[in-house]
Order: sequence, then structure tokens, then C-alpha cells
Amino acid sequence: MRCQSCGNAQAEQIKIRKVTSFIIWFNTSTWNYPTCAMCAEGLYFEFQSTTLKAGWWGPLSFVFTIFNVPANYNAIQNHRSKLGTVEIEGDSYPRPHLAALKDGGVRIVLLIVAGILFFAFNAANSSPSSSNSYTPAESIIGTCWTSGDPAYPTGCSDWDADYRVTFTTADWNDCPERYLEGDATDDWYYACLVAN
Ligand SMILES: [Zn+2]
Repeated sequence: MRCQSCGNAQAEQIKIRKVTSFIIWFNTSTWNYPTCAMCAEGLYFEFQSTTLKAGWWGPLSFVFTIFNVPANYNAIQNHRSKLGTVEIEGDSYPRPHLAALKDGGVRIVLLIVAGILFFAFNAANSSPSSSNSYTPAESIIGTCWTSGDPAYPTGCSDWDADYRVTFTTADWNDCPERYLEGDATDDWYYACLVAN
């Protein structure tokens, strides 16, 4: 079994794949041959760093990339465990490892992808939840207040608890007697008071 790339007699099979994409177009190419340690490291670095930079940019290729990156990593780790040393003129040396994350372009692209996912995730989560069942206006109902001006909140069993909030409304004319002006985060309301 000789290296398909350089002819070196110390070779082991390795299957690595490269994904490149743009919108709906994408392309994959696969290396699946007996390969020596140094050629495998070089091919892994080239295929993995290209995939990490060019694989994300379409919906289908994004999914391909998610699965392909760990598959490539497993393939090189498996190859490394089979061919741990390189022979140079009769001497054997520990095999050097090339990491795709050492590529500065890969790091920048991964930061961009993480940023896009972060904003997409936030946008997907925040838009429907603004019609949440809990509103600050409701949390004031049942609270008790002093009769001064300004009024202060107080415990309902306290001696100065002269008024209690019965309901909130957008129109102060709905209130039977006194009211408080409330400020919820996004809308104005009135809290109607009755004697406690
Ligand atoms: Zn080789």
C-alpha cells in the first residue's frame, strides 16, 4: 500500500471530504486513498480549513459541514493512531500534527458564523415572546398604597394602607375614584384605587 499522493511506502487509508458552498450551490470532493502521514496531515489541513471557511454558506451545505467537520477530525485521529511516526532516511520521528484551527481565516469565519447564529437565535426567540402572558401592569393589582401625594406602596395590613389597586386600565375615566399612573416597559396604564 503506497501513498496515493507521493508514493511513500508507509501509507494508511484515509477518507476526508471538502465542502464548498454559495447560497444553493455547493460542492463536495472526497479523498479516499492510502496516504502517508505527512500527505494526510497536509490534505486534512487543506480539506478541513476549506470546509470550515467555505462550507457554511448554504442551507444544505451547512448541515453537510456540521457532520463533515467531526468526521474529518475522526478520520485524521484514526490515521494518526495508525501512523504515529514518520521515517526520514532510516530514522523515525514523531509525526507532526496540523490543526485547521491554526488557520487565522478559519477563526474569523467561525466567529462570523457564531455571530450570525447568535443573532438569528435571538431574533427567533424574541419576536413571539413580546405577547407574553405576564405584564407588569397586572403585577400591581392587589397592592396597597398610602393616601398622600405622592402615594407610596405599603403593606395591605399596615395602618397607612388607605387604598388598594383593583384593576388597571388604559383610560383613567374607567376608575371609580382615585388612580395611580403606571409605567409598564412599553405602555402607559392607570391603576384604579378603592378604599382599603
Ligand atoms: Zn505521501
